[in-house]
Amino acid sequence: MFTPFRTESYVDFSQNTPKREMLHAVDTVSGQMGREYPLRIGGEEITTSDKIKSLNPAAYRQTVGLVSKANADQADKAVRSAADNLKWWSRTDPEARARILVKAAAIMRRRIYELTATMCFEVSKSWIEGYAGVCEAIDFLEFYGREMVRLSSGQPVTPYEGEENEYRYIPLGVCVVIPPWNFPCAIMAGMTSAALVTGNTVVLKPASTAPVIAAKFVEIMKEAGLPEGVLNFLPGSGGAIGDTIVEHPLTRLIAFTGSMEVGLGIFEKAAKVHKDQIWLKRTVLEMGGKDCIVVDETADLDAAADGAVNAAFSFQGQKCSACSRLIAHRDIYDVLIDRIVDRAKTITVGNTAAPENLYMGAVIDEPAYQKIKEYIAIGKKEGRAVLADGKVPDGGYFIPPTIITDVDRNARIAQEEIFGPVLAVIKAKDFDDGLEIANGTIYGLTGALYSNERMRLERARHEFHVGNLYFNRKCTGALVDVQPFGGFNMSGTDSKAGGRDYLQLFMQGKSICERW
Ligand code: NAP
Repeated sequence: MFTPFRTESYVDFSQNTPKREMLHAVDTVSGQMGREYPLRIGGEEITTSDKIKSLNPAAYRQTVGLVSKANADQADKAVRSAADNLKWWSRTDPEARARILVKAAAIMRRRIYELTATMCFEVSKSWIEGYAGVCEAIDFLEFYGREMVRLSSGQPVTPYEGEENEYRYIPLGVCVVIPPWNFPCAIMAGMTSAALVTGNTVVLKPASTAPVIAAKFVEIMKEAGLPEGVLNFLPGSGGAIGDTIVEHPLTRLIAFTGSMEVGLGIFEKAAKVHKDQIWLKRTVLEMGGKDCIVVDETADLDAAADGAVNAAFSFQGQKCSACSRLIAHRDIYDVLIDRIVDRAKTITVGNTAAPENLYMGAVIDEPAYQKIKEYIAIGKKEGRAVLADGKVPDGGYFIPPTIITDVDRNARIAQEEIFGPVLAVIKAKDFDDGLEIANGTIYGLTGALYSNERMRLERARHEFHVGNLYFNRKCTGALVDVQPFGGFNMSGTDSKAGGRDYLQLFMQGKSICERW
């Protein structure tokens, strides 16, 4: 029914047409500043007096949107509404559900520049990072739609005489979706669409620093024909309403992406069985990382320097896959550092909504800004700051690229997730030592190895323990169904988003036998 899945292509913003389109979109979204967005519960739009003020991190005084903020009663109502709508939605034709996703993808494609600009304002993505984020969201919609059609015929079973046997998948129930702010379009749309297309009803609680892009996605799903009540939109503080939706006895599944601390709390709370609850909740938890790039003495050092700088500093180092540790063989350590510093010095920092099409924007908010600054201060004591304190504009949470060398493998900046533009460089004695350092954290999300030694690449396939491993390229930028994404250890439950196992996590298998 659908054509084969293909990932979306990016545009080149140095070309006139995309540049013009983007400038127009920036203008359009500028005109939407301060717009109000309601909650949506059971098909009803609810405007609350208490609002989330979504601010541009690169321009303190700019309010991107005012989003109604749910309280615990509304959170309870959203879960109940999702439960009420489950019976009929779970029985809709999987192909019909898939078509809604494909239609939503088409609408997003038509609005791609506006959605990109929204993220430039709301979370300070650069143009290309924002654009890539919308492409990824479109890919999730297109891919999960096709995946649902594939899985709707269940799995084959071994024939058994005198019986008809079948194995099919059915939805789980009410799914609570809790995305992070850093991929506020792609991850939010990916988790939500996976839950919907598999026949679950959803309570979507967006990140409080990025609710506007989520509100636009909810509008798009409605325009694509998603019936009322199936997707409940519940912006609100995770600290205030998170427990209500996670612990609710009618909640069946929680799909979360965010920090390890919050993820572990959800894991624990979801494990407790509450009064009137008749199932064990399932959790899909994708959490933090302390990702690294390992460079050995045989590597192409220019390629490694390009990859490390991009993976460490694009989107201000705020990707779960960002390179926060560079592990360099002692023979090439000094020369690699020089090349990285030279490249990082050329990076431009500023308000990414501006036409200059800057490389780095602001970090997400004041707490993140303070936390990263504290880590830089710690890093200056733990190592040698070879690039720090560069000049940045006023008026936003700007932090320049920071590189700290001679860091011990067990130092705090080598072990703890900073989530900012801070790269710790660690010296390795040899390849074995490099691998040991790479695996020496509690996380296991992404990693890359630059090497031209074939047997080392082969060893790394087995011994480099990360969910997403890359050779001779950067450790960021996974594509849907090209590099299914998800980490090991404290990086999460290894639910590979954008992979062919993913939708099963949102369903349960049912075995049906009729004896003739
Ligand atoms: P976060 O602080 O953990 O927040 C994630 C989501 O959880 C937000 O929607 C937040 O809502 C909500 N939340 C907070 N407290 C909650 C509670 N007690 N109960 C229920 N929900 C609660 O993470 P973040 O700062 O948004 O995102 C950055 C983190 O995500 C990093 O650690 C990064 O590595 C990780 N990440 C991982 C992946 C992956 O695939 N492994 C991908 C992207 C990001 P509020 O905004 O209202 O607090």
